[in-house]
Amino acid sequence: MPSFDLLHVDGSQGEGGGQVLRTSLALSMVTGRSFRITGIRAGRAKPGLLRQHLTALRAAAEITRAEVTGDALGSSEVTFRPKAVRAGAYHFAVGTAGSATLVLQTVLPALMLADAPSQVTVEGGTHNPAAPPFDFLERTFVPQLAKLGPQMCLALVRPGFYPAGGGRIEAEIQPVPRYGLGVLNLTERGEITSRRFFAHGAALPWSILEREVAHARVRLPSWPAECFAGKELPEAHGPGNVVFAEVTTPEITEVFTGFGARGVSAEKVVDGMANETRAWLASSAPVGEHLADQLLLPMALAGRGSFRATALSSHARTNMDVIRHFLDVSFAVETSLDGSALVRVEAT
Ligand code: ATP
Repeated sequence: MPSFDLLHVDGSQGEGGGQVLRTSLALSMVTGRSFRITGIRAGRAKPGLLRQHLTALRAAAEITRAEVTGDALGSSEVTFRPKAVRAGAYHFAVGTAGSATLVLQTVLPALMLADAPSQVTVEGGTHNPAAPPFDFLERTFVPQLAKLGPQMCLALVRPGFYPAGGGRIEAEIQPVPRYGLGVLNLTERGEITSRRFFAHGAALPWSILEREVAHARVRLPSWPAECFAGKELPEAHGPGNVVFAEVTTPEITEVFTGFGARGVSAEKVVDGMANETRAWLASSAPVGEHLADQLLLPMALAGRGSFRATALSSHARTNMDVIRHFLDVSFAVETSLDGSALVRVEAT
């Protein structure tokens, strides 16, 4: 097979993480453009395909009946030649606690632009450090995507925490054609209408959740007492612990997350989340750091749009570079003195 039809993607570029692969897969599925990626996750301590990336690759291949080489654990080089996207009912299992949400996000762009609705089930981790937790996907990411046109209904059938996994997410996707995508301009947030804090635990002493609620009240002192709640999840779902702060305005719901881990105190779990929440509250930008890197791809598919983010991470900048390999699109970034960034996306 000649290789001149293949787009070459350097997996070590920028952050050199799994996002370079996932973004390439998502856009290859949508555009039909074949690609070869080398140096997969070269910037990570354990490079190459982990189960989560392998599942995303196989999911993308199944949906597009792609010809694939290099689809093995630890692989650092993959070629992907997609055919047409087939909407339908799909079931993907990571097989470990690897992130189910990142697998779903890989195939979502193609399915949200397909010619018929799809139902997708993904099994794996639903609340993993360094990945969007289910709650963020459901209440932060999907509502913004819906403003572009595609409608999605997500259900958390069962949570899955590291290291046991075993979570299950179901998604129903009502697509729109790509030319029918709307424009999202998310530059103002408006007044806050609701604030909530939750500590969720499974197979953990209730006292841990109590400590998390108490510490969250210290770290978010202006929030009324009724905003804070602890919840025990069914024993069989654990062990697992996650804390969320959720802030809603007319334009956006932002979800900030802290992940419990063995050897990390309840207070520390809350601190990371509280710092992120306070940084967002101190800014006037609507889009938090994580949503910023996740909005780039759908906006680029729409060919226009803008948002103002509290900060732009190196993850976001790497994502822009990868998107530009596949789409004729430009990203203009204006950074303000407070570190917030206005991002404008335009087809070129
Ligand atoms: P890997 O190489 O292990 O696959 P990666 O480089 O792809 O990792 P990250 O850069 O850590 O992974 O992030 C993956 C995605 O998860 C990014 O889109 C990031 O914004 C998102 N993410 C991470 N933490 C959160 C969080 N707390 N809430 C929402 N999204 C998150």
